[in-house]
Amino acid sequence: MASTLFTNVRVIDGKGKKPFAGEVLVQGNRIKRVAKKAGGIKAPNAEVVDGAGQTLMPGLIEAHAHISFCNTPDLESLGDLPPEEHTLAAMKFAKVMLDQGFTSIFSAAAAKARLDVVIRNAIDAGDIPGPRMRAASPELTPTSGLGDVRRRHIHRETFAIPCDGADEFRRTAREMVREGVDTLKINPSGDEFIPCARAHETVMNEAEVAAVCEVGRSRGKNVACHARSAESVKMCLRQGANVLYHCTLSDEEALDMLEAEKDRIFVAPTIGMAHITGQGEGKDYGIDYDHPVALFFRIEGEKGVENMKALKKRGVRVLPGGDYGFAWNPIGTNARDLAHFVRLLDFTPLEAIRAATEYGGALMQMDVGLVKEGYLADLILVDGDPSKDIEILQDAQRLTAIMKDGVFHKAPDIAAAAGAVAAE
Ligand SMILES: [Zn+2]
Repeated sequence: MASTLFTNVRVIDGKGKKPFAGEVLVQGNRIKRVAKKAGGIKAPNAEVVDGAGQTLMPGLIEAHAHISFCNTPDLESLGDLPPEEHTLAAMKFAKVMLDQGFTSIFSAAAAKARLDVVIRNAIDAGDIPGPRMRAASPELTPTSGLGDVRRRHIHRETFAIPCDGADEFRRTAREMVREGVDTLKINPSGDEFIPCARAHETVMNEAEVAAVCEVGRSRGKNVACHARSAESVKMCLRQGANVLYHCTLSDEEALDMLEAEKDRIFVAPTIGMAHITGQGEGKDYGIDYDHPVALFFRIEGEKGVENMKALKKRGVRVLPGGDYGFAWNPIGTNARDLAHFVRLLDFTPLEAIRAATEYGGALMQMDVGLVKEGYLADLILVDGDPSKDIEILQDAQRLTAIMKDGVFHKAPDIAAAAGAVAAE
């Protein structure tokens, strides 16, 4: 069995504790030993990687990924993409995520029914490079909900699957189970850039949410909800959904209900897209700072920031993951979300890292997200200390090694590392 021994590293274990100097031994695809002192591990047959004082930490985990959203400036363009080109693009973006240190991604919807599934399977088979994946269905949405871009007078494909009534939602959810998804995604609330379904509007009814949650429960699938309005959050919790996205407009009752289920559920506000759009970063695509959508996002964002701080205080697991997949919030810049958490939500860098590693691992339901004996060896070596400067994680050049499942996706430059030590 191949072994790798990381020596001379500062370890961030993912549990939110201060980094410690130590060594980590990987054997096969698992972390075999973690030592808190130099020379603590004897492994004569292991390949030695001298970290030269760099930081070794768990690979990052994205809680709201869209690798098939292809960085388009609008939703309609996704429906226009033919399946062949779309599959190749999703394959490319899976690799982009791994190149940026994301060794696991929890998908928040595919843009076509089988896109996530086929990419996940190809990655697991070792046919293409990419992170571990939880594959999602497209967004199941009601007529006139977020993702229904159809028009009365002309045929137009969309990235979502419109459903109406509990029976249609149930049938589509079962169909998605048949096609192999891990997660059923629903859109019970609207969004600020959809004029006919705004963020505060609850557009699915309780019977529709219940139908999908019943399928999720009986078939062992996650149910992930686009839930911005307070009522949509409550409805999804009542029906047993486990992944609550956004939750920005939660009221006191919704916060209480989220807290009551804090050990079962996960919240990802998806700060990234909404925040930067509110700040006018969509200006090259027609949404400048004064655009009504930017204004709506700023108003919603204020309430969302307040709510996320409250949820964190209440012990709810709030995870980074920010709808990366649009033109001005592209795939690959996902680590920016950790910086948003630090700047906007009062997370310390170590708390943000914990949310993107330990909590992400719990969301994935896999032994990932911690530097811990027995865990899967998904590790990144970082030139610098992200516990002091969270922005470092956005720079792929500072990720000097990326290991997934015990194998280097990006191998360390051992000679250079050795040189760094000699120069000290
Ligand atoms: Zn999304």
